[in-house]
Amino acid sequence: MIEIVEVGPRDGLQNEETNIETDGKVSLIERAIVAGVRRIEVTSFVNPRTVPQMADAEAVCEALPNRDDVIYIGLVLNQRGALRALATERIDQLGAVAVASDSFAMANQGQTSEGSVDVAGQIIEMARAAGKSGQVTIAAAFGCPFEGEVAEGKVVAMATALAKAQPSEICLADTIGAGNPAQVASLIGRLRTALPQIPLRAHFHNTRGTGLANAWVAVQSGVSTIDAALGGLGGCPFAPGAAGNISTEDLVYMFERAGIATGIDLSSLVESNHWLGDVMQRQLPGMVARAPFFPASRSQAC
Ligand code: ZN
Repeated sequence: MIEIVEVGPRDGLQNEETNIETDGKVSLIERAIVAGVRRIEVTSFVNPRTVPQMADAEAVCEALPNRDDVIYIGLVLNQRGALRALATERIDQLGAVAVASDSFAMANQGQTSEGSVDVAGQIIEMARAAGKSGQVTIAAAFGCPFEGEVAEGKVVAMATALAKAQPSEICLADTIGAGNPAQVASLIGRLRTALPQIPLRAHFHNTRGTGLANAWVAVQSGVSTIDAALGGLGGCPFAPGAAGNISTEDLVYMFERAGIATGIDLSSLVESNHWLGDVMQRQLPGMVARAPFFPASRSQAC
């Protein structure tokens, strides 16, 4: 069994030019829950001038379904964001971000890579002090939009430094979809050896078509949780050319067909993909929702 975190309401929507109303975001969250998702990145608490799509973070939180069995994640980049997230009293887990290269750290959050590690540690401690959990994502772990290759040793050193703040998990993010399966196996293998006690999550974008292959290898290499966005929505406002997340329905299809349970209902996701396509007024990148249902139901087979 693996866990899939739905990041569509945040990572999926943040780069969309079409403004999605708060109701639409909450519907997306409700649909993910109905399909069986139990951990959702619901919004980010960032500057509304730089990411206008997330300006309604507090309103989204106010409208979240009351579910004891669902963990709501709020993404935060600094202490101010952490205070906003905690003040809603609806966010169960803070997601901090440390960035593996200085250029992308500057573009994404106005800090050096090292500065982002320090701030992420402070955010994790703020979460814990408030009785919540805090985890951290290492962004651009498989490649930087400005600097290209990122050394594995750099990522391992960052994770080791971040582990001192005792995050509930560390996530490796391929923010620009540059990673390949061999790299994923190598980097995750090194992290497992360096930090055997920390649960790992992985986050892939499908910019160059390697997203699902990377997710498969990540799980084979010891990652227990994968991020995905319904329909394969997504991109990053600060990473030129970044394309969609791996699609939740494609990921569920692949793992369930391979005998690895996700706890998520595929037909429910496909139905939500079609709904979201109507909301976004375009065809979404995810592929399973465009294909005939497989295996065919008995009635279709007749
Ligand atoms: Zn992402």
